[in-house]
Amino acid sequence: MPLGLRLVCVFVYLSAEACRKYRTPSTALDGSSVFKLDHYRVRATGQRVILRTMRSLLAVASVCAISCGGSSTAPTPTPTPPAPAPIPMLATITGRVTATNGGQPLAGLQAALGATTTATTDAAGGFTMQTLPASTLRLQLTGSSIVPRTLMVAASASRAVALDAIALSGFDLTFYRQFVRNTLAAPNTMEPLRRWTRAPSIRVRTVDDAGRPMDAALVAMALRVAADAVPAWTGFQPASLESGPAARTGESWLTIGWADHVVAGRCGEAFVGGDTVLLFYLNANCTCGALALMPQTVRHELGHAFGFWHTDSVTDAMT
Ligand SMILES: [Zn+2]
Repeated sequence: MPLGLRLVCVFVYLSAEACRKYRTPSTALDGSSVFKLDHYRVRATGQRVILRTMRSLLAVASVCAISCGGSSTAPTPTPTPPAPAPIPMLATITGRVTATNGGQPLAGLQAALGATTTATTDAAGGFTMQTLPASTLRLQLTGSSIVPRTLMVAASASRAVALDAIALSGFDLTFYRQFVRNTLAAPNTMEPLRRWTRAPSIRVRTVDDAGRPMDAALVAMALRVAADAVPAWTGFQPASLESGPAARTGESWLTIGWADHVVAGRCGEAFVGGDTVLLFYLNANCTCGALALMPQTVRHELGHAFGFWHTDSVTDAMT
């Protein structure tokens, strides 16, 4: 509507409102001079004149209210139907479970993904589950034929996962828990697995901690033992196998060093899952023939460094 017509409508509507107030003559006026003039007309010509004026103004005001889009006659907007809720996209997780000890497929296991999704592995060890996508979900494998296993899997999109679990058939669980979870020393506190999951690089130092040059035959023995022990303890071939005066540290490196002092009753030491083996070659009780140290000491300490604990088995290389 043009601005001029809109302003006129407002004026007339206000005039009509003023007229309604005049129905009670005692009502005080505080409006414009136009309203005051109408008030004087009421007093001069009588009730009929003012009533006629009121009807005319109210009629015009009603028309203008419609034209100006007054609230009383505004069209009711058509309600917009709510948008349908989006259908969530499900991630399909397919898995295949084989035995850690043997590789055979494991059938009849219960697989549980997150809090609500479960499946049973088929004859090939396979399962399929659908879930709402999540960055990671807890996956539990249980069954009377395996050591239960829990792991976290990425589940932000559909994917296939290869899983393994320890089959109990022919398996010594007591030994296993001593060997990899330290239950011989701490029966009620199973340590987390600390085994290496990548090929280690080995450095054998050619000087001891005091900088004295080492017997070359002793260094060569340590290199030979490491070449044999790395695949035995880790399943990997060494990524590097070398000797030199300085230790090497950092990701995937393990250093075999030589102590410059004697500790009674000690031939070697290593932290379980650590990256350093220290050999006490000056201890006269640790000799092996012409060598100043027993090769099995090197193998034993490497076993610790690669994540294994003492057991009570007489045939265990760690004893
Ligand atoms: Zn030991």
